[in-house]
Amino acid sequence: MATMTVIDTVSQRRPARLPIPQTVRGRYRTIKTAIAWALLAFYFITPWIRWDRGPSLPDQAVLFDLPGRRLFVFGLEFWPQDLPIAVGALVLGAFGLFGATAVAGRVWCGFTCPQTVWTDLFFTVERFCERLFGKGTLLSSIAKPVAQIALAVLTAFGFAAFFNDAPSFPLALVTGTAPLGAYLAIGILSLTTWLFAAYAKERICLHMCPWPRFQAALLDKESLVVTYQRWRGEPRGKKREPLRPELSDLTALIREASSFDTGRGDCIDCMRCVNVCPTGVDIRDGLQMGCIGCGLCVDACHEVMTRIDRPTGLIRFDVEGSDRAGSFTQAKVQIVRPKTLLYAVLCLLAFGSMAVGITRMESVLLDVEPQRGQPFVQLSDGSVRNDFSFRLAHRLPHLDRVVIRAEGLDGASLRFATEETGQETVALAMPGNRRISDRLFITAAPGQAPKGRANIRVIVSDAESGATLGEVETYFWGPAR
Ligand code: SF4
Ligand code: SF4
Repeated sequence: MATMTVIDTVSQRRPARLPIPQTVRGRYRTIKTAIAWALLAFYFITPWIRWDRGPSLPDQAVLFDLPGRRLFVFGLEFWPQDLPIAVGALVLGAFGLFGATAVAGRVWCGFTCPQTVWTDLFFTVERFCERLFGKGTLLSSIAKPVAQIALAVLTAFGFAAFFNDAPSFPLALVTGTAPLGAYLAIGILSLTTWLFAAYAKERICLHMCPWPRFQAALLDKESLVVTYQRWRGEPRGKKREPLRPELSDLTALIREASSFDTGRGDCIDCMRCVNVCPTGVDIRDGLQMGCIGCGLCVDACHEVMTRIDRPTGLIRFDVEGSDRAGSFTQAKVQIVRPKTLLYAVLCLLAFGSMAVGITRMESVLLDVEPQRGQPFVQLSDGSVRNDFSFRLAHRLPHLDRVVIRAEGLDGASLRFATEETGQETVALAMPGNRRISDRLFITAAPGQAPKGRANIRVIVSDAESGATLGEVETYFWGPAR
């Protein structure tokens, strides 16, 4: 399948016309705002959703438990050994993104990328300050950085809240009882958020992000992109006649441009499409890497065309080459095609493997391995001891005590390395992180040790209900008499 030509005008791009893009109303602005609100609400509200996690953990629905090396997502608990599920999620995300790009161009960049969402939010804050205190005033130039820094700190706090108990976290931060890592994370994230969203802004998209370089390979002739319908736009308004000095504002310019009725294209060269563009792109030069596909120029031009009473769609989402067709109507979008079908199948496979992985996640992981080296130790009273490495982890929120016993060896006693004396069963309290890794000693009473090797079974059960949680087949060595 042929791929689309995307002009690399990033390097020779003209600077943004305005330091803060103008506001615009329209369909894509509304979609963009709705998506931004949804994502911001997800980001800031999720850590505050409560979920019963038992007595030893914060009741948080989504929690990254770094000390316990696990992730909680509502009823699911992921451990490092569940990495294949995380890989499935990444593959699903990657092919989902490829598919969305093949169908609708850079929708990820224009509507959902955190860089886009936060830059848009910071622009809104800047505009609000200018409206409140006046453009270029001292108060405005103080208020803007103060508001931006506050927003950056709030963003960093929102991120850190995923790793801590959100309701008690602010107090812990203020009283100095939060972990040192929390202060470091908030400091670094505040700085990077401010740097990316308030200072670098569109430069991240234009010069640092690799995605624009990939998009040329992912787009094809059927993909939707932002197009300027050159056939009806040119020659532009200003070319026809010099503007009179009193026509300095947009309304006057539109009125002036509307008064001509022959021999010119529909573009009145008002620059509205450029002035609303968050990356300062002039889409009339063709599809460019700097264009993030946000559709704001579509809304801007739609507004202008409506005001000068010309058909809308001079700038519109359409397939590449629609300009040459010379039609006022948008081409029919071909969503189902070999490339998109392939992405859909790959997404389904990734989703299926994730679902299988989740349903097969074990609640209890038990591992009992004989220690390497000397197979047994003969004690002075004639008893024989074998050493095992014992690892137990579980995802049962209300399990806090287990009982361990061995079967297959009459009169055997068990103890962990930290205990003095052994018993037939060992009761063990499970700490908050629900993992235990210790040395387990199993001792056969004098005269009870097997000759050579004997199979035994180590069983772990719930101390309260008696239900078996896990068992492991292993072996016990005695002296070969
Ligand atoms: S908004 Fe429309 S009319 Fe104005 S410069 Fe852009 S393309 Fe031309
Ligand atoms: S050219 Fe249009 S679609 Fe592209 S980034 Fe600028 S405003 Fe968004």
